[in-house]
Amino acid sequence: MEIKLLGTGAADGIPAFFGESRVGEYARAYGGKDIRTRSAAIIDGHIKIDLGPDTFSQMITHGTRPSDWSGIFFTHSHDDHLCESELQYTLAPFTEEEFSPFTVYGNDAVLARIQARFPDWPFELVLTKSFESFDHQGYLVTPIQAFHRLEEDCHNFIFEFGGKAFLYAADTGYWREPTWEFLSDKKLDGVVFECTDGFKRSSYHGHMDAKEVVDATNRLVSMGCLLPGASVTTTHHGQAGDATHAELEAFLVPNGIQVGFDGVSIKL
Ligand SMILES: [Zn+2]
Ligand SMILES: [Zn+2]
Repeated sequence: MEIKLLGTGAADGIPAFFGESRVGEYARAYGGKDIRTRSAAIIDGHIKIDLGPDTFSQMITHGTRPSDWSGIFFTHSHDDHLCESELQYTLAPFTEEEFSPFTVYGNDAVLARIQARFPDWPFELVLTKSFESFDHQGYLVTPIQAFHRLEEDCHNFIFEFGGKAFLYAADTGYWREPTWEFLSDKKLDGVVFECTDGFKRSSYHGHMDAKEVVDATNRLVSMGCLLPGASVTTTHHGQAGDATHAELEAFLVPNGIQVGFDGVSIKL
């Protein structure tokens, strides 16, 4: 499997859409890995994770082609992950297509928003529930429950294909016990963890800071869930976390964790 992180920013991106901060100003001045568009990823060029408001720019910058997507897998309905208005450009009058080539997977909150916006459009919508696996084109997909927006069944996803298993966890929060128990017999080749709060813990329960990413990684190791050589990479960084890419690397790399950036490719 090859996972490309198309965006690695939190809801407001870096530099933040409106707010000012040390990290945002650093990103404006130096660019590079400190510029972070809203979080999204793609696996093997056709399994799309989330459809945020930066999808169009990510398509141009990273060469993903929406007509190649076989499925869009939504983690939850927050605006930085679900920009349903973009779906309209896949069908008439914008294209000749009668049907979109991809299946849309999401929880009830995600599907309700898409149905409200497109009540008569022929999207193939599939309801996902945490801890209930399903097949998508030979990939075994398992949503697991995040500790995030409590009003809905927010997902992280395990994708298994070709003898490899990859866990995408953004937005995550520090998982509750049912999720840890479910993971206890899993063997993972790669994990992507959100690191929204960086070095500055916020009051919101539903995100992790850098220290919690280390703690969660160590817990997976102690449970035997990370296979030898497994990669752990961060995403969903917020400017309020007050950490530049280099500062995050200085803290996380010695703990065996790579700091993600827009466009990074992870090969399992
Ligand atoms: Zn988010
Ligand atoms: Zn969220």
